[in-house]
Amino acid sequence: MTIINSNLGYPRLGEHREWKHLLEHFWKGQLDNTTFHATAKKLRLANLKKQRDLGVDYIPVADNSDYDHVLDTLVAFNAIPNRFGHFDHQLDLPDYYAIARGTETAVAAEMTKWFNINYHYIVPEFDDVSFKLLDNRWLRYYQEAKQELGIDGKPVILGPVSFLKLGKRHGQYLDDAAVSELLPHLLPLYQQVFEELAAAGAKWIQLDEPTLVKTTTTAELIPYQTVLTHLHTAVPTLNIELQTYLDSLDQYDQIVTWPVQAIGLDLVHDHGENLAHLVDHGFPADKILAAGIIDGHNVWASDLQTKLALIQQLRQIVTNDQLWLQPANSLLHVPITTKNETKADPVLLGGLAFADQKLTELHTLTVAANQGVAAVQAAFDRNQTNLAALNQSSHRNNQSVRAAEAQLAHQKFERQAPFATRIKLQHERLHLPLLPTTTIGSFPQSAQVRAKRAAWRKGNLSDADYQAFLHAETKRWIKLQEDLGLDVLVHGEFERTDMVEYFGQKLTGFYATQNGWVQSYGSRGVRPPVIFGDVAYTEPITVAESVYAQSLTDQPVKGMLTAPLTIINWSFVRDDIPRAQVQNQIALALRQEVQNLEKADIKIIQVDEPALREGLPLKQRHWQAYLDEAVYSFKITTTGVQNDTQIHTHMCYSNFADIIDTIKALDADVISIETSRSHGEIISAFEQTGYDQEIGLGVYDIHSPRVPSVTEIEANIQRALRVIDAQQFWINPDCGLKTRQEPETLAALKHMVAARNAIQAQL
Ligand code: GLN
Ligand code: ZN
Repeated sequence: MTIINSNLGYPRLGEHREWKHLLEHFWKGQLDNTTFHATAKKLRLANLKKQRDLGVDYIPVADNSDYDHVLDTLVAFNAIPNRFGHFDHQLDLPDYYAIARGTETAVAAEMTKWFNINYHYIVPEFDDVSFKLLDNRWLRYYQEAKQELGIDGKPVILGPVSFLKLGKRHGQYLDDAAVSELLPHLLPLYQQVFEELAAAGAKWIQLDEPTLVKTTTTAELIPYQTVLTHLHTAVPTLNIELQTYLDSLDQYDQIVTWPVQAIGLDLVHDHGENLAHLVDHGFPADKILAAGIIDGHNVWASDLQTKLALIQQLRQIVTNDQLWLQPANSLLHVPITTKNETKADPVLLGGLAFADQKLTELHTLTVAANQGVAAVQAAFDRNQTNLAALNQSSHRNNQSVRAAEAQLAHQKFERQAPFATRIKLQHERLHLPLLPTTTIGSFPQSAQVRAKRAAWRKGNLSDADYQAFLHAETKRWIKLQEDLGLDVLVHGEFERTDMVEYFGQKLTGFYATQNGWVQSYGSRGVRPPVIFGDVAYTEPITVAESVYAQSLTDQPVKGMLTAPLTIINWSFVRDDIPRAQVQNQIALALRQEVQNLEKADIKIIQVDEPALREGLPLKQRHWQAYLDEAVYSFKITTTGVQNDTQIHTHMCYSNFADIIDTIKALDADVISIETSRSHGEIISAFEQTGYDQEIGLGVYDIHSPRVPSVTEIEANIQRALRVIDAQQFWINPDCGLKTRQEPETLAALKHMVAARNAIQAQL
């Protein structure tokens, strides 16, 4: 009787991003179908073989994708929006990619975040859908693994209820009534998939129902239970692993009684709740507990001793042959291997574990649990040595950071005077017209900007030449902004690739990976920085850029920073101390940057917090703590300035009625919000709650190259002025302009200023 291990999913990108390049070459027409399929198959098999070599007992199959797993599910079941055509067979690649990427005549399907992860899935559209099984991809990949490698894999399928709940009908996410209406049409097709797999000899299927962690009422459980009862009765020989992840199950007691053979629980991101259920209520003797013990959403090596202690605790609850060890969630969301991080400090490297290292940990723990630690003593010793080295290193023991943290409890982070007083002083100092115009920070990053940066990084362009180029670009844009007649100018953010990396380069405690790519959407990868040590301020970050820009003009130039929570959200964060503590370290560092900007006579400082909403915990009961921490770190960052220094913030979303108290609590002087697509909602939120601070509602949508007309922008301004006092209102685009082209940007801004002028004349 031995404990077994199992994996839930493996990254697609390839160690050297082979998969990304495959897709992109195909899209560019540089590859024919046959070559594409042959290469994709090679990568797929290599990934499976690697997992076997790393000691995985149950290897997931069909978790691979040519783009996204939700897209795969919707094309398999013919939930294809009509605008892409009608199909009665498996889609060809061009048709498949048309849905993800759009065509001349059909807009791409929408994409949105996968739970609280920075992975974006294709949102199914269940309007006029008639389900049909076009392709049993689960069978295809199951058979391929068996035939080519002799691997009896565990097909992974997105469960029907989650599939429906992740999709929309008539523009709205499906509610329970809509799910119940569509489910009877979908369920027989899942049954067919199951039957064909069982007939082919599959023993297990991993049925992912991640939306289960969001259910709170018994009524919401009904469709899941219906599905499982039906499939179990119809195909009794195929064992079901009901897989959940990223949080705990609120209705644990009911869910564990369902007719499945294994239940996968996340014991890492569950706030301790799943483990508490197990300890307090036990686990049924007729099922396997698939225990998610390794973090699949962060990059740190596990403490093997602690994990082994957890396993021993689980063995008090279930027998050995009832226990599988697993990652807590799919490894899709971590980079592939640390072995290509050749330039990392060895002390850091020893503490890192990407997907492959995590599977090795899993194997080591399985052996330790089955045969005793002695069988893997060397691995355990190495693990303890590595973790101790990292924890005791100077990276994690910065005494001045400790001292600053110790002071926090004795400090108050409030502006000197209330908003009403501050804003008067700011108006006197800034002399801005009614309805001041500005932009959100970035200007187009042209091919030239990107080429220069790449050349500089490769060492083909000297620091001085790169600096000179950045200055020239800022100078050109200061002139353009003056010519446009904008009131508050920006330097353009040409030195930044994104909102985090540049800050990481200038603060201590950050590591920029060489190959730590994770899939963000489609072929697109991101390389989040790794925050591994204490974060401290050692040198100014953005002061030189802002000061240079300000030296070129009499108009005020806004300083431009990223707020702590956004930096945290878009990074891999050390897990040896609470996230909030890291967030506050960043805040203390940025507070110095804000003060340095002020000292350099920058009168307006914008601190962007675009990730505030997307980082909300999955369960609402954890929101308040998260939001309080966000407000606290924002205020550490922004409150160290004089009353007449104006603090702006920017957020990239439109639905925020439910967090408006938090937005107020930030106590920023001006907030700009992405709203051009849903003016109504936001305005009423402001109206209902009485918001005193100044507001810039984005007056046009920057997410498309379309140039809005003057009349259209005027109408947007007029609409806002019905509820917002003109004294309180700024005019700006709804987000940064980094991804736009220069001509359309100039044209749109020209219209924006003209619209403002027209309205100003009438007031
Ligand atoms: N200042 C940033 C920019 O303009 C803000 C980007 C964002 O909101 N995501 O690019
Ligand atoms: Zn934005």
